[in-house]
Amino acid sequence: MATSSSSDTKFLLTEADMPPAWYNILADLPEPMSPPLHPGTGQPAGPDDLSPLFPMELILQEVSTDRFIDIPKEVQDVYKLWRPTPLYRARRLEQHLGTPAKIFYKYEGTSPAGSHKPNTAVAQAFYNKVAGINRLVTETGAGQWGSALAMSGAFFDMEVKVFMVRVSFEQKPYRRALMQAWGASCIPSPSQETEAGRRILQQEPDSRGSLGIAISEAVEEAVTRSDTNYSLGSVLNHVMLHQTVIGQEAQKQFELADTYPDVIYGCVGGGSNFAGLILPFMKERIDGKDIRIVAVEPTACPTLTKGTLAYDFGDTAQSTPLMKMHTLGHTFMPAGIHAGGLRYHGMAPIVSKLHDLGLIEAQALPQTAIFEGAVQFARTEGIVPAPEAAHAVRAGIDEAVRCRESGEEKTILIGLSGHGNFDMAAYDEYFAGNLVDYEHPQSEIDEALSRLPTVAG
Ligand SMILES: *Cc1c(COP(=O)(O)O)cnc(C)c1O
Repeated sequence: MATSSSSDTKFLLTEADMPPAWYNILADLPEPMSPPLHPGTGQPAGPDDLSPLFPMELILQEVSTDRFIDIPKEVQDVYKLWRPTPLYRARRLEQHLGTPAKIFYKYEGTSPAGSHKPNTAVAQAFYNKVAGINRLVTETGAGQWGSALAMSGAFFDMEVKVFMVRVSFEQKPYRRALMQAWGASCIPSPSQETEAGRRILQQEPDSRGSLGIAISEAVEEAVTRSDTNYSLGSVLNHVMLHQTVIGQEAQKQFELADTYPDVIYGCVGGGSNFAGLILPFMKERIDGKDIRIVAVEPTACPTLTKGTLAYDFGDTAQSTPLMKMHTLGHTFMPAGIHAGGLRYHGMAPIVSKLHDLGLIEAQALPQTAIFEGAVQFARTEGIVPAPEAAHAVRAGIDEAVRCRESGEEKTILIGLSGHGNFDMAAYDEYFAGNLVDYEHPQSEIDEALSRLPTVAG
């Protein structure tokens, strides 16, 4: 194990310190999860229902209750291109805020795609490849997931096709080009290439698209082509599992720093970077450790703070299994805010369950506040946060300011899920004063929630 001193700024592990296995919270939850249901019959979905979409290894990981699942050597070899990722002590931000708190951030932006998403993309590409699948189809919001899967496809010599939410396709041309650089094709969604896309375009020719619609398109293509599987970048249990390398590394790094977090802040879209960071700490919390864990979401897409816990579809066309999750309803149409990765109507069942059990808290922040925090962070720590990650940054800054007022010397951990170097158009809008705060209206939430499917029992 690497050595370090508590006066260090970066806490670094060596490749030999990388976790050999993913941690599975399903082994330690105080109550079992509710199973996914078949969208047609409403009965628990079995492996056969999922096999048109996913390889069997991933389906088994979805339901496994083994505490640890070994990371294949081929996946570890790719992880070594950028893992272990650094844990930083934000000394300059602390000084700037004049806080007695210690602020740490675990930075996933050192991956070639600039976020945590390759942690699962590489694993998913690998398990598909060994199952004989050479073509993957997926959706992407801000383009982070599409680019992570495009890169992973390149590593395992696979074809990747990405349906990109139209509003992001237009706002983020460089994410598109990045996918192309890694050899993937990317088309705006809704598209004319699927039934689901054509149906939406008929009703609404200038549809901006949504993740729910793009998922419907990708799932349709995977189901109708036997050479093609589908890949999802968040929400599912196996995705949360793959991301736990983040939290396991962070635990070792806190040993090096000779401290332990009192509170952790992570941003949540579908919940994967948050879960990846917090689940290994959650095990310790369940075992009695005193630690607060807070999920931060946009007021424009308040899935945990204003959504309801219910069975719902993962997509607009109602083609995915029903999952018991916090949801704003599968018909939810998000505003065009600049944190595209946080605009999904649902929340990972694992994160929803932890919230339901009172093991995590949730908080919503408006976008001008998050950009203000992001700029403060950039001017002190240097890294320009992804707008998604900026939610965690702002919440962490607010906590450090509260510590300044109360004199508490808390240790704060922020999940910095990615950098914002491809999001400078959003920063540009912020600097021009064009960003407005948006609270999703309760009437629209109520309307979308009134369309939740009814489920027996
Ligand atoms: C995609 C993305 C998110 C949101 O997705 P989660 O599954 O909730 O992690 C957050 N941060 C970054 C940088 C992303 O790319």
